[in-house]
Amino acid sequence: MIYADNAATTKMSEAAIRTMASLMETVWGNPSSLYEHGQNAKEVLESARQEIADIIGASPKEIIFTSGGSESDNQAILSAAMTGKRRGKTHIISTAFEHHAVLHTLKRLEKDGFEVTLLPVHENGIILPEEVAAAIREDTCLVTIMYANNEIGTIQPIPEIGAICREKHVLFHTDAVQAMGHIPVNVQDANVDLLSASAHKFHGPKGVGFLYVRKGVTLTNLIEGGAQENGKRAGTENVPGIAAMATALKEAVDNMPETSRHLIAMRDRLIDGLNQIPHGELNGDATRRLPGNVNFCFEGIEGESLLLLLDDKGIQASSGSACTSGSLDPSHVLLAIGRVHDVAHGSLRLSLSEDITEEEVDTIVRSVGEVVTYLRSFSPIWRDLMDGKKAFIL
Ligand SMILES: *Cc1c(COP(=O)(O)O)cnc(C)c1O
Repeated sequence: MIYADNAATTKMSEAAIRTMASLMETVWGNPSSLYEHGQNAKEVLESARQEIADIIGASPKEIIFTSGGSESDNQAILSAAMTGKRRGKTHIISTAFEHHAVLHTLKRLEKDGFEVTLLPVHENGIILPEEVAAAIREDTCLVTIMYANNEIGTIQPIPEIGAICREKHVLFHTDAVQAMGHIPVNVQDANVDLLSASAHKFHGPKGVGFLYVRKGVTLTNLIEGGAQENGKRAGTENVPGIAAMATALKEAVDNMPETSRHLIAMRDRLIDGLNQIPHGELNGDATRRLPGNVNFCFEGIEGESLLLLLDDKGIQASSGSACTSGSLDPSHVLLAIGRVHDVAHGSLRLSLSEDITEEEVDTIVRSVGEVVTYLRSFSPIWRDLMDGKKAFIL
């Protein structure tokens, strides 16, 4: 069996599992309690905070633990919006290919009277910093742009965009859920004010994440209650999960040079192989993309059928994001990079993890080729294309 859906979630690393299991047994106190069990938990919590802060170039006070990427995105965006509103600024800039945790939060703000500009995403899946600069207005309170896209893996020029926002005194948030642990991320170099991350995308546990909040940026609570997390996020902390997140991140970052070298080689082998299938095309820039991400469109087929048949062959992949599968709408990301509906429907995302081998890549290439040929053999759209009733796009 080949698991090639690491953008949806990753398997926990052995080290992260060990950290989590051993803490569940030994350090089960409430970190807010003053007696020994509590203080032991507090120590574990604070050392995880320090470790994560060190890795991303932050100070520990700037790290808030959350339940994951969605919560971090919500809190970052709603906080910046509230601060903006108090100052009479109600314009927000984002992009058309953000994760739904961002897009749906923006939708909600629009209902509350905010104006949202979604920047176009170019064919290569990269946002142009000069277009961000041109979109900033007097009343802009926030720019939120993802670090790396979860479907097509393209990496955005975050440091450049951050520098523009800083110069114009506009808050800048980045959803770094797909980037964290996969490419180097440093909040100073990236010029960000707010950054979201999630443990289960880098071999940590599900239901844990963090939000980086630059000193001086005002945060609004989503969850009211106790004084945990500097009073900014109530609820007893998931200490074993948080410590396991720190373990997983440290491991990912320590191994990154080696892992990304291997992954890039495997990714490019996979791209070369899939490029041999006629009337298919890679989505997004070929090199400015995450080391493990491959996303293709094949003309004349349905992505869902492709996935089911690949599953029968022991290959687990995705046709877009887990959040949109199950609906018949094509991916908003593929539409944003200019794919027409018919083509966007025939998409396949393969997101690799570091244990992928050359043989497995070759198996994927062979299997995708077989399944695409099979599906085309009875596809009415394919017949129309072959008969010349419709023109090929790819
Ligand atoms: C997975 C993902 C999220 C959501 O993270 P959760 O921890 O699952 O809530 C947000 N943004 C991006 C880009 C993601 O890939």
